[in-house]
Amino acid sequence: MKITRRKTRTVNLGGVKVGSGYPVSIQSMTKTDTMDVAATIAQIKRLENAGCEIVRTAVKDAACCKALARIIKKINIPLEADIHFDYRLALKAMEAGVDGIRLNPGNICKEDEVKKVVKAAARRHIPIRVGVNSGSVKIPRGGISNEELPSLMAEAALDYIKIIEKLGFYDIMVSLKASDVLQTIDAYRLMAKRCDYPFHLGVTAAGPELSGTVKSALGIGILLAEGIGDTIRVSLTGDPVDEVIVGKHIIQGLGLRRFGPEVISCPTCGRTEVDIIGIANRVEEALGRIRDEKGKLSGMRVAVMGCVVNGPGEAREADLGIAAGKGSGFLFIKGKPARKIKESEFVSAIISEINKTLERKA
Ligand code: SF4
Repeated sequence: MKITRRKTRTVNLGGVKVGSGYPVSIQSMTKTDTMDVAATIAQIKRLENAGCEIVRTAVKDAACCKALARIIKKINIPLEADIHFDYRLALKAMEAGVDGIRLNPGNICKEDEVKKVVKAAARRHIPIRVGVNSGSVKIPRGGISNEELPSLMAEAALDYIKIIEKLGFYDIMVSLKASDVLQTIDAYRLMAKRCDYPFHLGVTAAGPELSGTVKSALGIGILLAEGIGDTIRVSLTGDPVDEVIVGKHIIQGLGLRRFGPEVISCPTCGRTEVDIIGIANRVEEALGRIRDEKGKLSGMRVAVMGCVVNGPGEAREADLGIAAGKGSGFLFIKGKPARKIKESEFVSAIISEINKTLERKA
């Protein structure tokens, strides 16, 4: 199955092009106090190293904007300012040099205020994300049903976009995040029929690492599989670096981009006679540390299999594979059995073969 992206406009966020003509980009959000410049820079550096392509930072007050000016000088990826309640913070953040602004229609809604932000963004060629959250959407008196919430979110975004478009401004991205997976999917699907702006996808407040990963993979993954979505943020209650790693796995799992070798490992069972869980984790960790800026390892598959039942088959189909036995295993290279190796050498043998591949392709 080939994913056909929904056709959108292109928005340039500090050099990262967002839209259907460009790869789905990965973003995250800092979790430090923005005023703590050193800690925020350090966290953004870790995100850059993990492959984050756009970072967002909370802007709580004017002092944060001053901090942003210092942070921006030290980082290498575009920074989007997350603005709520006070439109003047958006103006100050733009003066500080941010590459994008996120506005929440639920709490910056006076037309004259929105227009001031739009005019400043137009002058500086800075895109605006209309970021609707289910928690801050205005619910009509008398309430609404769960099924009605997605269309209310889409309408809130469309009304806001109308205000922005009146000024001839079209550098717009849209997000419609709910903490409920199906509501999120529904909101984006509805919006996809109503505009051609690029979408920032995410399930908001998805939860801690495990449940948050599953909810994000479902919400973001289902939409991406339908061709909807141009940049993603996995939202986890945890280290933002994990958000980037999970985001990469979602995008790579759908074949939309390749970030490096894919690890295929068996779940283990009563036949397993080596520590496949530990070995697979160590292989994935070691592969994650290899710097492959030119994508030479993209599309490569590395199989770590526990026994001779499915092991040789999977190992043969992968670029590199190990089919384990008791205390040892067979290394397969490009489908051919290469040599017998000891269990203690599994990880080093794979990494050494990967390095040889890198040297060959250099
Ligand atoms: S490959 Fe072998 S050890 Fe792994 S799950 Fe399958 S049967 Fe079990």
